[in-house]
Amino acid sequence: MQNHKPQNDASYFPFHYIDSRQRFLDLVHQTQKEGASVQIEKWMIPSKIDQDLSVDLAYWAPTQQTQQLLVVTSGIHGSETYAGSAILQMFLTEVFPKLHREGLGVLLVHAMNPYGFKYHRRTTENGVNLNRNFSISGERYKRRNEDSEKMHAQFFKREKVGSIKSHLFQHLEIKNGKAFFGDISMDQFIKAVSPGQCESAQDLEFGGKALEPQSAKLVEKLKELIPQYQDVVALDLHTGLGHRNRLHLLTSGSGEDLHPDLFAQLFDIEADKDYYEYTPAAAEGFYEVHGALNTAFSDLAQPHQRVCAITMEFGTLGHDLEAKLRSLDNLLVEHQGFYNGYNTPELAEEVQKESFERSYPQDDKWRQAVVAASRGLFQNILSRAGAFTL
Ligand SMILES: [Zn+2]
Repeated sequence: MQNHKPQNDASYFPFHYIDSRQRFLDLVHQTQKEGASVQIEKWMIPSKIDQDLSVDLAYWAPTQQTQQLLVVTSGIHGSETYAGSAILQMFLTEVFPKLHREGLGVLLVHAMNPYGFKYHRRTTENGVNLNRNFSISGERYKRRNEDSEKMHAQFFKREKVGSIKSHLFQHLEIKNGKAFFGDISMDQFIKAVSPGQCESAQDLEFGGKALEPQSAKLVEKLKELIPQYQDVVALDLHTGLGHRNRLHLLTSGSGEDLHPDLFAQLFDIEADKDYYEYTPAAAEGFYEVHGALNTAFSDLAQPHQRVCAITMEFGTLGHDLEAKLRSLDNLLVEHQGFYNGYNTPELAEEVQKESFERSYPQDDKWRQAVVAASRGLFQNILSRAGAFTL
């Protein structure tokens, strides 16, 4: 097979959604030209403003018998898709041609949230955080998050944004090196709000009232594929949490998304430390998520199947106190501005620029780190799975 690797890893990053989608599809078609049999699907996403939004995916069945399924999903959170797209391109260019696909099936999903990617929003057009939206039973949509409601009542204002600082940050105090808002610690605030809520898009981290169209389509696809396999490894690509230039592997925190034997077979945290660190959901500044895409895999698998569903997070602003505060402040003020407006267009622009930087730093060193870490991770786990030769 030919090698189309670019000179500089940063050039895997697309310019915008349409460019990204085209690059993905070109590389998928390239595998076909080189002899691989692939099923390509396009899910059109309904929109009030744009009739050209699609989730694009490609599935390569194993060439002999089904054993392991690798699923890589990108773009749950709009602007984070720049990195997700770069990783998919690197994978298709450098890893895919060398895969031993006798027993391995591969499903790659480009831009789960095309609206958010194109218009630089974390949520879908319906205001839904897709990574809080996955509930196969529908139970999640009925459950209230009262801790989140309390935090909103105390700290969140539903009025025009008049300052680059959010209302929450007017209560900020640093005590013994820890951040507090009144008597609530930042960690308490994050662990209350970040798991999500299904009441209102006006509040932070809305999980929706039902599966969004692309969530429903993905669930349908997984229902078709998962039963065919013994092992399922799912990697969902994100940016924004953790140390800058560093890849963190996270799980939803439920404990059901990681089969211990499969995880131990594929991931060697010590040997892979140049590429990533494994961060439990309980770690400070991280959090348990409800309705994450990852939970769909364990929900759909049978007890005899082994599932490893992992979130890959590339740190952007950083993980020190100052960076975490800056990130939380911007999340709140951007959300308030989207629903209530801004006092001036200059303020809107400043807030949105920071929001974009939080998902996609305009820095080639960061871009190169994202691609290098992903390359190392894919090569190591796939070689341990017997599907790649280092
Ligand atoms: Zn994300």
